[in-house]
Amino acid sequence: MENIRVMISEEDVNKRIAEMGAQISKDYAGKEVHLIAILKGSVFFACELAKRITVPVTIDFMSVSSYGNSRESSGIVKIAKDLDEPILDKEVLVVEDIIDSGKTLNHLKPMLESRNPASLHLCTLLSKPDRREVEVPVKYIGFEVPDEFVVGYGLDYAQKYRNLPYIGVVEEE
Ligand code: 5GP
Repeated sequence: MENIRVMISEEDVNKRIAEMGAQISKDYAGKEVHLIAILKGSVFFACELAKRITVPVTIDFMSVSSYGNSRESSGIVKIAKDLDEPILDKEVLVVEDIIDSGKTLNHLKPMLESRNPASLHLCTLLSKPDRREVEVPVKYIGFEVPDEFVVGYGLDYAQKYRNLPYIGVVEEE
């Protein structure tokens, strides 16, 4: 069995998401924002964030798989499930759960930009700056976290713990 140590409490996560939603609402005032949530991890965050945005919101989902093991991104990203709708002329905000090496978004960003959205920015709940291998410009970051394997709020360990309402660290017993 694994033990889960709380890193960021439910209260702090929800408070920060509310702040991010308020900031996005301000930045996109008078516009509509089209959220692209990357399955599966970012879905919990994207739903909570969407509820905190006061400008009109639409949402679509994309699933990407990167070759290599689940803890490390190879940087070669394959679209496993594409978006349902075109993003031409839309104000797109890509929503991620965590940015680690940066390789996933570094590949995904130009792929989506080639579809000519009106704008495209990145938003992530968590970022591990110490692990960054490629620089990706991220407009909204919830929390910077140290280099530890985290779970909860959509993030899994072997598909478990996505439903935890806080961010935790897996500790093997
Ligand atoms: P990147 O391409 O930035 O290296 O990888 C991002 C992806 O790696 C995330 O979307 C997530 O699926 C996975 N990942 C990176 N760090 C963690 C972590 O600490 N916990 C979990 N559950 N997944 C992680």
